[in-house]
Amino acid sequence: MTELQLRKQIIATAQRMNALGINRGKSGNVSARWKDGFLVTPSGLPYEETKPADIVFIDAKGRAKGKRAPSSEWRFHFDIYHGKSEVHAVVHTHSSFATTLACLEMAVPAFHYMVAVAGGNSIRCAPYATFGTQTLSDRALRALEGRKACLLANHGMIATGESLKSALALAVEVEALCEQYWRALQIGKPNLLSDDEMIAVVEKFKTYNALAR
Ligand SMILES: [Zn+2]
Repeated sequence: MTELQLRKQIIATAQRMNALGINRGKSGNVSARWKDGFLVTPSGLPYEETKPADIVFIDAKGRAKGKRAPSSEWRFHFDIYHGKSEVHAVVHTHSSFATTLACLEMAVPAFHYMVAVAGGNSIRCAPYATFGTQTLSDRALRALEGRKACLLANHGMIATGESLKSALALAVEVEALCEQYWRALQIGKPNLLSDDEMIAVVEKFKTYNALAR
């Protein structure tokens, strides 16, 4: 893939995120690994108006190259690519149900087997820290240990993937799980699956693409 194609894919993913209803306005951001760094959506520009040249490149030392400022959240994208070699794309959204649970600093437990698509028996919630800070990034990285997604307290969620397509699909699934968990909590105490069962499901997902519909 060329750099121009990847820039176009990032914009298409950001626009799709809003069209799918998992993000509103300009609150989220999208990035993809490129060369020794990554490409990320710019700060404060509506996705419908974003052109390939507006996408910002951040190099291995965290230096931004482009005509616009990178998303204010570029720091956790930077640390995710640095710390997780398997990740090639990151989607960050303030989707309604994930953010609702995050505002109560709630993790998503193993109430449904699909929680395993995030890599384990829960989707953790990173404690609150101010947006754009190193502290937020450090807390997000801790919540992402052994996981592909996490919630951010009083903020939103992060989903990662081997591609923009898989990161977006995971973001959609995490939001669906947060909605289902929220709904289940309205009528009772959800029955949680055992650690052994979740280990078995995580294992099954290694050879079965649970996000392909
Ligand atoms: Zn955010």
